[in-house]
Amino acid sequence: MTSLSDLPIRDDLRGLTPYGAPESRVPIALNVNENTHAIPEAVAHDIVTSIARAILTVNRYPEREFPVLRDSLAAYLGHGLTRDSIWAANGSNEVLQQILQAFGGQGRSVLGFPPTYSMHSIIARGTGTRWISADRDDDFLISPATAVRQVEEHSPDVVFLCSPNNPTGTPLDPDTIVAVYDATDGIVVVDEAYAEFAPAGAPTALDLLPGRERLIVSRTMSKAFAFAGARVGYLAADPAITDALRLVRLPYHLSALTQAAAIAALDHAPEMLAMVDDIRQQRDRLLVELPKLGYHAWDSWANFVLFGGVDDPASVFEQLLAEGIIIRDVGMPGHLRVTAGTEAETTAFLDALARITAR
Ligand SMILES: *Cc1c(COP(=O)(O)O)cnc(C)c1O
Repeated sequence: MTSLSDLPIRDDLRGLTPYGAPESRVPIALNVNENTHAIPEAVAHDIVTSIARAILTVNRYPEREFPVLRDSLAAYLGHGLTRDSIWAANGSNEVLQQILQAFGGQGRSVLGFPPTYSMHSIIARGTGTRWISADRDDDFLISPATAVRQVEEHSPDVVFLCSPNNPTGTPLDPDTIVAVYDATDGIVVVDEAYAEFAPAGAPTALDLLPGRERLIVSRTMSKAFAFAGARVGYLAADPAITDALRLVRLPYHLSALTQAAAIAALDHAPEMLAMVDDIRQQRDRLLVELPKLGYHAWDSWANFVLFGGVDDPASVFEQLLAEGIIIRDVGMPGHLRVTAGTEAETTAFLDALARITAR
């Protein structure tokens, strides 16, 4: 049998491993920050109706510029945004990939601040963009001075920021975003996959878009919108950015069925987002209960909590898995990450962890 290393694969991909969140189908899956609430059945029926209508014309290519979906996304985001400032793809991972296809690539670099979303460096690799790891301050914070110093040192073509950050859950001060923008001539991407879980009235990088034509804010329907399986991510930026992405996207990259599903879901945004408050409550419960078990819980503005003080993360992970609960070992010494689930799921996790901790 041929193995990967026997193939004439690109030298820069030799010996690498793919994105590796374990995919075990267990009763309680709190490992990839999905919304664990199903979408409301009434909304599901409307989405199915919309898909059913779209499938009648599926012999034709979909609308290449997906104007209706972009209008819907602009209306959802507000901030005076219009269709021209919006772009979408099959998950925000694809949006990020298109950004690096257009602004990164061979001979170019992207700078990020680990620990951060593992896909940022993986997408860099796939697009042949050199990944530069920058340091954070204590407590996973990034001060404007710390960020600017490293941006000036490395002069990257693209900077990836993540707010709130995955896997730490920690927010990013808008002052840092502005300072990074002012310190570079390159593209600044703020990945706001978890923005809807932030406290009411929290700042978003969308506030910073006017007058900053190199700033990109990426969002997703995978998390708060409970739409992970549909694969819809999007961004807001200057219209010139979306023109750049048209140069690298595949024609008709968003299927007619995806567009129909997303438009119908956005028509029901309040119902789709109804569980966000509940999830925030479960997250806050984790923030209170984990310390009672002796762990350090990092403050989170997302739908997950990173906790430290775990003597043997791999062992705790396995013991939880044996009880039908999967969380995430993000490879940080002494740490594990857990998604805030339904009340029952969160209770099951906390009860199991209490038993494991007492052993
Ligand atoms: C989950 C996540 C995404 C979402 O990716 P999709 O491709 O939209 O499902 C993007 N960024 C971060 C930081 C995430 O954690």
